[in-house]
Amino acid sequence: MGQILVAIDTDCGLTGYGVGGGGLAGMHVVRTVLRDLLLDREPEPIEQIWDLMYRTTLAFGRKGIAIMAISGVDLALWDLRGKAAAAPVAELLGGRTGRPMPTYSTVWDDITPAEARMHSAFKLHVENRSGHDSVAAVVSAVQNARDILGADKPLMLDAWMKWDISTTLAVAQAVEDLNIDWIEEPIPADDLAGYEQLVAECPISIAGGEHEFTAAAFGELIDRRLHHILQPDVCWCGGMTELVKIYNMVNAAGLRVCPHRGSEIWSLHALAALDPQPLAESGRPWMTWVGGQPPIKNGSITLGDSPGLGVTIDEGHLPGCIT
Ligand SMILES: [Mg+2]
Repeated sequence: MGQILVAIDTDCGLTGYGVGGGGLAGMHVVRTVLRDLLLDREPEPIEQIWDLMYRTTLAFGRKGIAIMAISGVDLALWDLRGKAAAAPVAELLGGRTGRPMPTYSTVWDDITPAEARMHSAFKLHVENRSGHDSVAAVVSAVQNARDILGADKPLMLDAWMKWDISTTLAVAQAVEDLNIDWIEEPIPADDLAGYEQLVAECPISIAGGEHEFTAAAFGELIDRRLHHILQPDVCWCGGMTELVKIYNMVNAAGLRVCPHRGSEIWSLHALAALDPQPLAESGRPWMTWVGGQPPIKNGSITLGDSPGLGVTIDEGHLPGCIT
């Protein structure tokens, strides 16, 4: 998925780490544009540096790869902010560590009974269920998952932008009685008129946002109530600076944030500090080269109290790494 590690070294000996996206193209943005903006500069205030990075990339950025690259730099700056203050980022955000938060697992295949015991909730990818009748295939998969999980364990569906409105409504009506918490990204992220129709007509809550960028763009989704659940990815949407703004807007609007990949350490600080109803998404195992990530135990995860974001990186041993 083209995750890029950003390391920012300082002359006081601290190194900040962040992860962004965009693969080689994201690395190119960091090396040819963002790096020069930061060299010989104080790492604070981050919010002003974010604005400088955004404005400098504006002509070719705004969404996608440039913001994914900025996300990695922003997170590395937040890691430095926490390390300089000798405090976890969650505390800088007004929260505290040490509180268990429930996790959900995102799965692409049928859920086994053993898996079902490991998480507090599940999300089933249903975009590629094919067959003679794809709606019937989805309904069958959802029914199987509900049977394994029992009546009450939360279950969500993810269509990864592959459906249209009529398919979404047909599936929603067919699984309405199966206690589904949300349908995620049923249609492409830019189809705002489509989302307007879906939130009006779909009997199940609509989630989305993992492929949206910047708090400003989330502002429109929130103001127009185009999603019930907003799912920014902190490594893609602009970093912690933007995730904090998104949380504040969503909480004020009475909607819900459920960050994409929320159990990963980059988002977990915001869940611990800003989320009234945290539910941390896990797609593990992956990103095993990021040390310091808390384990998931009995369907919950607990943020530790290491300063900054609390990650450890062995820069000499990054698997599959292009530098
Ligand atoms: Mg998704």
